[in-house]
Amino acid sequence: MPHKKIPMEHDKKIALVAHDNMKRDLLEWAKFNSVLLSHHQIYATGTTGKLLEKELGFKITKLKSGPLGGDQQIGAKIVENKIDFLIFFWDPLEPQPHDPDVKALLRMAVVWNIPIANNRASADFMISSPLMDSLYDRLVPDYENYVARKIDLEEKTS
Ligand code: PGA
Repeated sequence: MPHKKIPMEHDKKIALVAHDNMKRDLLEWAKFNSVLLSHHQIYATGTTGKLLEKELGFKITKLKSGPLGGDQQIGAKIVENKIDFLIFFWDPLEPQPHDPDVKALLRMAVVWNIPIANNRASADFMISSPLMDSLYDRLVPDYENYVARKIDLEEKTS
């Protein structure tokens, strides 16, 4: 499949999300990396964002709380190329009321080939990558063929 290049700027648009049992972990991680994070644009789901803003002291674009649609808002922003990086500490041990939204968000991240970290070690490796602070062309499959596919509307007679 041919690919398209989507440029990622020097300053990335990063979404941070954590389920309740993982919020402490994300706060610690973000505080430790606050200097590295500070020149990027940070987005977060509502509760995560409120806690992060208090901890980090810089402005965070807060969306709705995850279970109230925040995860879906992040997914939509990925589709619109308004978010290009996702750090989502999800809880592997507890079912969530919005599990389908979580799955949808992770799916959009894969469809649009954005970097995702779902645990602290991955987030450490990602934030310390030299690519974090450079221009990067993200390769995304060219979905034109999919969009232009033929739909058979003829009625089947059998
Ligand atoms: P919250 O949402 O930051 O509003 O708690 C996170 C989530 O559960 O998706």
